[in-house]
Amino acid sequence: MGGDGEYQKKLKQYYNHLNKKASYWLNKSKEAISSLKLNRIFSKFNIKQIFSDKKSNIKIVNKKRFIITTVALVAICIIAIYFSFANNAFAVLVNGVEVAKVKDTKIAEEVLSALKQGFEEMNDAAVEFTNQISYKKINASKKELLEGKDLEEQLKKHLDYEVKCAVIYADDKPIITLKNKAEAESVLSAVEEYFIKSVEPENIKEKSYAEKVEIREEFTDISNVIDIEDAKNYVIKGTSEVRVHKVEAGESFWSISRKYNISLDDLEKANPGTNPERIQIGQELNLVVPKPLISIKTVEEATYIEKIPYEQKLELSSSLYKDQTQVRIRGEYGEKEVKAEIIKINGIESDRILLSEKVIKEPKAQILVKGTKEPPPKKGTGTFSSPARGTITSRYGYRWGRQHNGIDIAAPIGTPVKAADGGEVIFAGTSGSYGKLIKIDHGAGFVTYYGHLSKINVKVGDKVYKGQTIGAVGNTGRSTGPHLHFEIRKNGSPVNPYKYLP
Ligand SMILES: [Zn+2]
Repeated sequence: MGGDGEYQKKLKQYYNHLNKKASYWLNKSKEAISSLKLNRIFSKFNIKQIFSDKKSNIKIVNKKRFIITTVALVAICIIAIYFSFANNAFAVLVNGVEVAKVKDTKIAEEVLSALKQGFEEMNDAAVEFTNQISYKKINASKKELLEGKDLEEQLKKHLDYEVKCAVIYADDKPIITLKNKAEAESVLSAVEEYFIKSVEPENIKEKSYAEKVEIREEFTDISNVIDIEDAKNYVIKGTSEVRVHKVEAGESFWSISRKYNISLDDLEKANPGTNPERIQIGQELNLVVPKPLISIKTVEEATYIEKIPYEQKLELSSSLYKDQTQVRIRGEYGEKEVKAEIIKINGIESDRILLSEKVIKEPKAQILVKGTKEPPPKKGTGTFSSPARGTITSRYGYRWGRQHNGIDIAAPIGTPVKAADGGEVIFAGTSGSYGKLIKIDHGAGFVTYYGHLSKINVKVGDKVYKGQTIGAVGNTGRSTGPHLHFEIRKNGSPVNPYKYLP
């Protein structure tokens, strides 16, 4: 880094400066020592000569020299002592706070790099210290200095670090942090696989993320890293909540949605790719509707057959009463082959673009005939007509040792049942072995019964005319097959209907 380089440069300059100073003083002291030695020699051997030569002056010169030499020597000693102890160590600063003293920055750097390597091995990933580490030149005694294990332990206490991880971003927002890029990629492919289960793989034309999805490698606190399986679940569901139901015998999507009070729609959304009609005992269904953090958009090209609805044409007929209708020609759906692009977000259709369609079969219009004839008065006419078309399977009277109070007319379920004569409905509902039953009072003591019906079109109090459709043949009550049980009662007693029917 730039700052460090500058610092080191300054340090070097400072060293050079000190070196210069030291050699200067060393030279000075050498000179002084040599001059002192000379003086001694002079004083021992030549003093008389010097004294005799220069007389009183020499004495003064000698004294001055001696003082200067002594002062110089003392200064040299002080400086030597100062240099051997001053600024002999470094303080290691973590975020500006001194945490250790070392002889040399190199010692600290080596321990720091060993620490970093240890953290990297432990996390199986690149590591970065988050603290600012700097040095300051200081004075320290030898016993204050740290190195090796002691220094490592001391630094470890004060250092924090971040680990290189992979963060999944969606639209520039961080979604989840994984241990590494490979895990992040595996989460993304799990999300994709989960959401396109319901899409036919051979039909997929395009597949993309609905959001801008990226994996970025970042240094972050290791505690942000999420286990890969949890991460998949979280990204898919948008929540860490997990609730599942194990399908039991006799259960359906509908009954399960009732049981947990969630809508059928939500249950389907929570289980994309599951066919609601084909759930199996023991199958686990999700109960939490996903709010996925990443969405997969697919475009499928599909070809399928679609029904073409038929139109209905109305015809009038004087042979039917005004309130009667009859289908003369049953309508038939047509068919067309459709090519379309189906756009799905997370397996759920969001849009459909029609590409082409080809009619395979034209629809056939339905022709409905509506009556124009005025219906007869809604009261008894005194004569009866047959209540249904069909085969008589049981007559009135004794049958297998029992009295049969009417006649049985076998006909397919849904065959219209008509009032044998006009009158007023006095019963419409279920009655024991009769099953669904209608009773009509025609006046003059006559009442007719219509039993085992599948459908009842009238209610008590309704006035009906002779020949009016009042219900449909069925198989309700004590009945061994679809048929109409028809009775005529006179003053409360069953009579043989044959005596009254045409
Ligand atoms: Zn019967």
